[in-house]
Formats: sequence, structure tokens, C-alpha cells
Amino acid sequence: MNLHGRKVAVLGCGRSGVAAARLAAAHGAARVCIFDSNPESVCSDQAVEFFAGAGEKEAHDFAADLVIISPGIEADKPWALAFTCAGAPIIGEVELAFRYFSGRVIAITGTNGKTTTTALIEHILLQAGRSAKACGNYGYPFSEVALQKPQPEFAVLEVSSFQLETVQSFRPEVAVWLNFAPDHMDRYTKVSDYYNAKLRIFEKMDEGQIAIVRVGEKLPPIKPRIVEFSSCAGSGLLRYEGTCIKQIDTVVTDLKGTALVQAHNAENTMAAILACRAVGLSDDEIVFSLASFEPPHHRCEFVAEENGVLWLNDSKSTNLHSTEAAIHSQTRPIILLIGGKDKGLDYAPLLPAMSGKVKLCVVFGQIAEQLERTFSGTHTTVRVQTVSEAVRAAAERATVGDVVLFSPGTSSFDQYKNYAQRGDDFRRAVQENLHLS
Ligand code: ADP
Repeated sequence: MNLHGRKVAVLGCGRSGVAAARLAAAHGAARVCIFDSNPESVCSDQAVEFFAGAGEKEAHDFAADLVIISPGIEADKPWALAFTCAGAPIIGEVELAFRYFSGRVIAITGTNGKTTTTALIEHILLQAGRSAKACGNYGYPFSEVALQKPQPEFAVLEVSSFQLETVQSFRPEVAVWLNFAPDHMDRYTKVSDYYNAKLRIFEKMDEGQIAIVRVGEKLPPIKPRIVEFSSCAGSGLLRYEGTCIKQIDTVVTDLKGTALVQAHNAENTMAAILACRAVGLSDDEIVFSLASFEPPHHRCEFVAEENGVLWLNDSKSTNLHSTEAAIHSQTRPIILLIGGKDKGLDYAPLLPAMSGKVKLCVVFGQIAEQLERTFSGTHTTVRVQTVSEAVRAAAERATVGDVVLFSPGTSSFDQYKNYAQRGDDFRRAVQENLHLS
């Protein structure tokens, strides 16, 4: 793509927008301007032209030749479309970075497990002495990695459905499809729109590339060679039995004693092993680094064990599927703390997973009433407003041997800036209640 003499509009002044603007400027664009619809937005890069509170007039005046869109902004809505008035195409920040990245790309998508798997693949590659950068929806914007001199050998790229909506020529060497479940119904009108956006990861791949897919995922025919993994015995090139990852009857590795032993993390590990094999690493190189991997915070993370009660922070659980995985991984009676923003999801499908495992539900936040209606027919349910109140309710009712699982199953934006702030608040409330602080 030749940007020389071109006018580039970058929509969104977040970190990926700023990185995209720098990348476009570094590749010779005549003029680059970042636009944000929020009049109070502030751009962190003083060197780039920036317009806060931009509307249709600014879009028309600028008359861009190319529009680069940040993942938080919807490409088919009037605000973004106004910037295409002079016939400019819209591409996403990931697409732009892909065009200027000359290294190898391993892309990871799925409803859950993307960040853990991305971080794990990067960890394995680094431990094996290769240069790699986790980026995209996790870590650095891909455009920042494309700006590096020299660029790393590998971009380990977490890609969300939002980012995949605006790819065009994007073609990773290896694509990982971890799983799919309904989510983001506050952005999409139909589950199939979310699914179709994710499927675009495979769109430009062909027989020369590899797709790593969980057994049972209902994919349409795709061109890349498929290699499968499964957390159940029986099928998939790799599968999980007991605490061992096996290929036919050979143990590839035993996850006992590692932070990856829970079934959902074993799936992430199998995907990571297959991705690293696909780019040429040996099993010895891969397996030795698993024990030293620490998953990112707020994912079924240990907070405390006091008076025989275990407290876990799974604040990163923002949909039913991840809460289901967290429930599935517990062996103790569960007090489930669940709630947050209304994302338009139905929680009844969680009931079978809760049956026989969850002894008490404490529901909180914007969807507390909906959850109480859904759960109270089959489970003792306590409704509160805040995370602090939920922790207090759990502390009053927990008995020796229980696990208090904070796995909200929806996003945090009704009460918090993000899931990390919510998880930190949970940790603080637990420590206060247990008088640990
Ligand atoms: P993502 O980046 O896709 O949101 P994370 O690795 O951040 O994925 O994990 C998000 C949530 O999903 C956490 O609650 C975590 O415990 C759970 N999780 C992680 N891996 C999986 C998986 N393979 N299947 C289901 N849930 C998972």
C-alpha cells in the first residue's frame, strides 16, 4: 500500500489510533489526522494532528483518501461513514499494521481464553530464544509492533471480533480458534453477526496455513489445514486426560503443579502447543516453559484461603461461557458472585452447569434483578447492589470447604471503568472482610 501523498483519517484517539497514525506517518502519508467524536478526548501524541469532538463537517472538510478505524468504533455507523465522503476505503488498525509487518503472525481468537493463550504463546517463544511480541487486543497495539526497528520475528496477535470486522488482506500463518459462545449482544444485533466477524480470521488463509481449532466447534468449510484439540478423551490431535495432555497414548506433558491445570487452561495450553509446533518449535522447547508461566491476573486467580474458605477472583469473566468454565473447574461447593452490566444476554443456559455445584448465588449490579428471576427457582439467591455487599453476603454464609467464586459473567461498565478495577475492588473487599488488610 502506498501512502505517499495521501490524506489519512484515523478514527479514535486511544492507544491503537495513535499507533496507527504514527505508522501511517512513518510510511509517507502526506497528512494524518486523528478524529474523535468526544469533545473531551485528549490525544497522547502531540506530534499528530488531532481533532476532538469531530462531526460530519470536519469529516467532509478533511476529505480523506484512507480511513483507519479503531476497534471501539463501528465502521457501518454514520459517524465513521462520514469520513468516507470522498470515496475513501475504511480499514482497521490491525489491517494497517498487517500490511507493514514483515514478520510471522500467529493470530488468536475465540470468545474466551484469547489473552491467556496469546500470553502463553509469547512466553513459550521467548523461552525458546525467539523474538516475539504479544499484541493486538492484548499488550501493544499491532501498529506499535509494526513500528519497531527491527520488528520481532513473531507477532502473537490477539484478535477480537471488533478488530476482525475491518480486515481485508489479513492472513496469519497460524490462526487459533479457541471456542465460540454468544457475547457482545450490546454491539451485535444477531449472534451470527458476532460469529461471522470472528470467522474472518480465516478469510484470506489457504492450504499453506494452519488453523488450530477446538473439537466440536461448528465451523463452515475453511481453506487452511485444520489441527484439532479437545479437553475430552477420544478425539483431536491433542486431548486432555486427568492432568495430562496426550497425543494418541503418548503423554506430551503433565500440567499437574502448573498454573494451567484447570480444564479451560488446558485447552489454551493445547492450542498454544499446536501453534508453536506449527511455527517449527520442538515439543522439548515448548513443554519446558509451561511450568514457569503465570496466567494474567483476574482469571480464576487465588485471592485468599481463610477459615477453610477459598476466594477466587475471576473478574475477567464477562460472559456465560467463561463463568461456566470457572464453575466446571471447581471441586468444592460454590458460592457464586455474579452480576454487572446488562449486555442483553440470557443466563438460563448457565443453569445446567450450576446444578449440583453452586450452593448459593449472590447477584449484584445492573442485572441483579434479571439474575434473581433466572436463578431463584432452582438456587438460593441473595440480591445485593455492589461487589462489597456481595462479598459481605458471601462471608456471612460461607462454611468450611466452600469456594467463593467471583465470576461476574458480564462486563463491569455499570459500576467500574473496567474488569481490572472490578477485580481489584473484589480483592480489597475480601481482604477487608477477612481482616487481612
Ligand atoms: P479473553 O481474552 O478471550 O477474554 P482471557 O484469557 O482473558 O480470555 O479469559 C477470560 C475469561 O475466560 C476468564 O474468566 C478465564 O478464566 C476464562 N477462560 C480462559 N480460557 C478459557 C477457555 N479456553 N474456555 C472458557 N473460558 C476460559
